[in-house]
Amino acid sequence: MAEIKSLKSTGVQDECGILGIAAKCEQEIAHDVYFGLFALQHRGQESAGIALSKGDSSVAYYKNMGLVSEVFDQEKLSIFPYAKTAVGHVRYANKGSNNVVNAQPVVFFGRYGRVALSFSGALINAQQLKDEMLKNGHIFQSSVDSEVLASYVNYCANDDAVSGAINAAKKLVGAFAFVYMVGETLIAVRDGYGIKPLIMGERDGDIIFASESCALEALSAKIVRDVLPGEVVVVDKDRNISSYFFTKGCKKPCIFEHVYTARADSKMDGVSVYESRRQAGRKLAELYNVEADIVAGVPDSALAAAKGYSEVSGLPFTDALIKNRYIGRTFIQPSQAMRENSVKIKLSAFAHNIKGKRLVLIDDSIVRGTTSKKIITLLRQAGATEVHMMIASPMVINPCHFGVDMDTKEQLIANGRTEEEIRQIIGADSLHYLPVESLCEACGGKEYCTGCFDGDYSFDISGYYPEN
Ligand code: SF4
Repeated sequence: MAEIKSLKSTGVQDECGILGIAAKCEQEIAHDVYFGLFALQHRGQESAGIALSKGDSSVAYYKNMGLVSEVFDQEKLSIFPYAKTAVGHVRYANKGSNNVVNAQPVVFFGRYGRVALSFSGALINAQQLKDEMLKNGHIFQSSVDSEVLASYVNYCANDDAVSGAINAAKKLVGAFAFVYMVGETLIAVRDGYGIKPLIMGERDGDIIFASESCALEALSAKIVRDVLPGEVVVVDKDRNISSYFFTKGCKKPCIFEHVYTARADSKMDGVSVYESRRQAGRKLAELYNVEADIVAGVPDSALAAAKGYSEVSGLPFTDALIKNRYIGRTFIQPSQAMRENSVKIKLSAFAHNIKGKRLVLIDDSIVRGTTSKKIITLLRQAGATEVHMMIASPMVINPCHFGVDMDTKEQLIANGRTEEEIRQIIGADSLHYLPVESLCEACGGKEYCTGCFDGDYSFDISGYYPEN
């Protein structure tokens, strides 16, 4: 759980999943979006929505609270007409209240007709942009960045819809990826540091954009490439593709995608998430030699790291915990009371596998530490004689300002505490974290945002958040 598991119940919450399809010809496109969103469900479970262009500058859409499979059924999907262009969204409420008004796609009448936009990320200057528009007579109906963004794209559209996306993107501060549908034109935009992922795929002439490659895979599309930092990709109604840059991009994506957020079978900017996690586990084993009998991972996101640890240490990889697959990630629960309850019913220990054993337990991260403590208690009750905790990432000591909700600095267990103090709180026999340099190496040795671990954000945020 990897801590999101750990993170999960402890307070790290990620953002959203976005999808856009520009098909060659009219088809049951709502079904495609549905299956793509299904593959992105791990990125947000609070609401889901689909909007498609009917080609006559009108938009058909439906969005509601719940999982993709709860929001859409065969009957709802069959109401959507055949179409060539569509966008979809799954949301985690990292900002703004949890209600259907804040669900996406955002659909509105703009300067160039009826449009729909799906957004993932967080805008540091959202309030500033909103104030500017309010002064000019704009109104807003929700509390989320996506509506500010949609309005601002429209506000900046001096020449055409594409100019709106480009001009707006120049002014946005933060982490963002969005797909924007205007008639049968589809526009995909990624922030100047590539903090939020956005990948482009192709299937028999259909162009597909998604937060993660696992959605392309679900649609039998092949990866074309990642949208580049600072890039605006436009697929026009004839399916010609053009590319513009609103800034000179500098790639520094979120490393937490590899640690926890992304699905293990996705590739992020050319790097396999599974391989990053496996390598992180191998590095833990190279760094820390612990006397133990078996190694296990907190399912699901730490399993690859546990396998990597096993490969290097020689300790047998063992299933120590089983997860009830029919419960959403606990971190999606909006109240602390609901989170606590979800953790209790989410995981069970394999007593048969761990009784009388000294166990190395790998998790992806620790945020508040409450889940780690519960898991360790669970394992001891099931008969583990020792539980040595290894974390496949560094201590989380700072909040994220780019859309991954890690609570406040005060709520982070590593804030102002040593490794030994954390070990005592969670009740482990030993505790080790992966250093940030090792994590970056495990993730392909590229430049990453590591702000929540060491304060090195994708760009200097001190003007916005002096406390960091
Ligand atoms: S601060 Fe952490 S979670 Fe946020 S973008 Fe940077 S690496 Fe990702």
